[in-house]
Amino acid sequence: MPELPEVETIKNALEPYLVGRTFSGVRISDTRPVQRLSLDEFCGGLVGRKITGLSRRGKYLLIGLSGGANLIVHLRMTGALLWNPAEEEPFTRVEFFFDGGRLIYTDVRRFGTMHLTADPNDVVGKLGIEPLSRRFTRKALAGMLKSRSLPVKSALLNQEHIAGIGNMYADEALFVAKIHPQQRADSLTTAQINRLHGAIKQVLKQGIKNQGASVRNYRGPDGSKGRAHEEFCVAHREGRLCPVCGSPVKRIVVGQRGTYYCPRCQRLN
Ligand SMILES: [Zn+2]
Repeated sequence: MPELPEVETIKNALEPYLVGRTFSGVRISDTRPVQRLSLDEFCGGLVGRKITGLSRRGKYLLIGLSGGANLIVHLRMTGALLWNPAEEEPFTRVEFFFDGGRLIYTDVRRFGTMHLTADPNDVVGKLGIEPLSRRFTRKALAGMLKSRSLPVKSALLNQEHIAGIGNMYADEALFVAKIHPQQRADSLTTAQINRLHGAIKQVLKQGIKNQGASVRNYRGPDGSKGRAHEEFCVAHREGRLCPVCGSPVKRIVVGQRGTYYCPRCQRLN
């Protein structure tokens, strides 16, 4: 599932193709991704508008348009945006046409969403702090974990606290910080919080550097896979050996999410 590093990679890859182009047409073969608007309103709101810039907020991709509109895409489980694919893609749900190019949206599981809105806050207004921004301080992280009795892993996945961390990077950050994913959020020591703060920034930056993780079917806009999963220490590596201590990585379920950790490096306090 695309998380912050994957969406950042998509944004960076699409920027040179899309900025300055004008929508000439939209073809929708599955209405499910289009949220809140009729298909006529959605297509009519895009055609003729020029793309002015791309940005990311949490796991959302924001495509800024002339006239102050925004196309906001969330890829959820299996969504992908592909620029000028050489072959026909199965599971194509929406196609955007431009002068000299085509952007297609494919989605096997069909959980992805698209909003067209003048005010991005309609969609992303409730998101919490960007973990790679200056606002994400040790103190801010401590404030989010304080008086929360749930497992620290579940606290990290709350998008209204920190925006963009999902299952994979939460597991990796907790491993780097040597914290058990089931430790109660409100029981973390200052030293643990400080380690976790650094670990979150580290794993997300490394994920972006490696163009995202293709654990399942993530692809960049040119169809290429990321390399971040090749450097994962625990995420999706059940039974493989911990790179620090050599113990087999274990899989448990925390807050209904498959969770990977090293039972020796990440002990429950
Ligand atoms: Zn270990």
